[in-house]
Amino acid sequence: MVNKLFARTLAFISPQHCILCDQHCPGPLDLCAPCQAELPYLQAPLCQHCALPLANEGELSCARCLKKLPSFSTLVAGWRYQHPIDELITGFKYQTKLSHGRVLGQLLGARIRQLYGHSPQPGLLIPTPLHWRRWWQRGYNQSELLAQQLSKQLNIPIHRGLRRQLHTPKQQGLNAAQRQRNLKHAFKVNKQQTLLGQCVAVVDDVVTTTATAEAMSRCLLAAGAAEVHIWCLARTPIDL
Ligand SMILES: [Zn+2]
Ligand SMILES: [Zn+2]
Repeated sequence: MVNKLFARTLAFISPQHCILCDQHCPGPLDLCAPCQAELPYLQAPLCQHCALPLANEGELSCARCLKKLPSFSTLVAGWRYQHPIDELITGFKYQTKLSHGRVLGQLLGARIRQLYGHSPQPGLLIPTPLHWRRWWQRGYNQSELLAQQLSKQLNIPIHRGLRRQLHTPKQQGLNAAQRQRNLKHAFKVNKQQTLLGQCVAVVDDVVTTTATAEAMSRCLLAAGAAEVHIWCLARTPIDL
């Protein structure tokens, strides 16, 4: 009790407290080591194209990618979309808890740096755009904030050339064909010249069905990008 009270007092005095357990945690990250260790990291085997967790060791691609390869080259996700990542992202996305995005973005940046190693990183970051109506309701675009964090950390410039031109209804409850149709004209490229021949990384918060990622990727490739990578905080375990 005293410990808890002490931790809360410290958390109040110092902004450095864990976003999950509220304990004081000095250091560069507002997440304590035990809470960080318990986050639902994606464990191998993962589909080499879309990062979907695979059932069997030795498999390289999920059934859907085997049937039809996505147009993007790779998908990097920080975690599985499950407790407590889902709550952290919901807080970041809908409740202005920007510290959640900052912490998760820092960790994702470190993972990306480690994953790419000496391989060349994409030359431009493209935040997943929000339709202006949704932006107006929320006041910010979480993918833009995430891209800013990654841009600083990885030293990659941001290109804001992708626009969402249709206010697409929620994708939940639609089958794959309906989702694709729904998204066919959802995106548009501005400032096409900057994209030509570039390998770009699209930054998103959660990838569920890959339908949105696929639509953005196709649009960017059609506009002249050489290659598209998808970087997201979380991947849902089941791709329907
Ligand atoms: Zn903690
Ligand atoms: Zn796959």
